[in-house]
Amino acid sequence: MKDKRLLMAFPHPDDESFGPGGTIAKYAREGVDVHYVCATRGEVGTVDAEMLKPYEHLPEDQRLGALRGQELRQAADILQLTGLHYLGYRDSGMPDTEPNRDPRAFINADPDRVTGQLVKIFRAVKPQVIVTFDPFGGYGHPDHIFIHHRVTEAFQAAGDALRYPEAGAPYQPRKLYWTVFPKRLLKFFVLVLRVTRRDPTKFGRNGDIDLKEIVAHDYPPTTHIDIRQYYAIKQEASRCHTSQFTGGPMRFGKLQKWLAAHETFRLVEPSVDGRRLKERDLFEGLGG
Ligand SMILES: [Zn+2]
Repeated sequence: MKDKRLLMAFPHPDDESFGPGGTIAKYAREGVDVHYVCATRGEVGTVDAEMLKPYEHLPEDQRLGALRGQELRQAADILQLTGLHYLGYRDSGMPDTEPNRDPRAFINADPDRVTGQLVKIFRAVKPQVIVTFDPFGGYGHPDHIFIHHRVTEAFQAAGDALRYPEAGAPYQPRKLYWTVFPKRLLKFFVLVLRVTRRDPTKFGRNGDIDLKEIVAHDYPPTTHIDIRQYYAIKQEASRCHTSQFTGGPMRFGKLQKWLAAHETFRLVEPSVDGRRLKERDLFEGLGG
């Protein structure tokens, strides 16, 4: 076990690479143990039938999960994750879709059981720093919101010997962060859509992303991690999630590279209390 330990908890394979992939790559290469807790195998969505060919021996509803688990394994190796921990639930899909009703869906799990699973991992891995989604889950995905609440609860419970005694000896992580991004540019983009008479509430390939709602959930960053040195690794890890790309390979232009120079987080524990923090390191203030 290394001196510094970082744990990220999200619900889907790809949340780690598309989100804080540069931060993971950076800390892993700086000698920090980085763990990823992934609640589901991202079983929902449509992919090219050709991609599922190698998994035809599996029941139909397990094929995509098997493929995406494989993609995450590759990404984890590229990012140099120390540990990959699945909670074993199913992707719940976007709001008001059929997969929401699957009893195996993450959002239908017993909240207490999920918290207990997280507490057990926190106590075993002993991360000083924990990262998860903000209360809106970035863009409103029900699984993102659900894991936000479970991680918040587990952060409070892990250090309390009376809670989840079966999950190991108490251990209190020091800091809790949300992945957030500055909304300024997005606000401008929403304005542009409006001016050009496009509907910002029905954005994206499936028209299921509400940009207006995303902009309304504004959680200013407290912490900027410079990932320029790790940008190429982040892209390489992101490309492992092949099933998530449609319409040919993604193009990574100069503008995107400039925008992606930093990954941003909001410190929530210990509380910022309205202070304007300007951290450059998730371990800032923790000493040695
Ligand atoms: Zn996700």
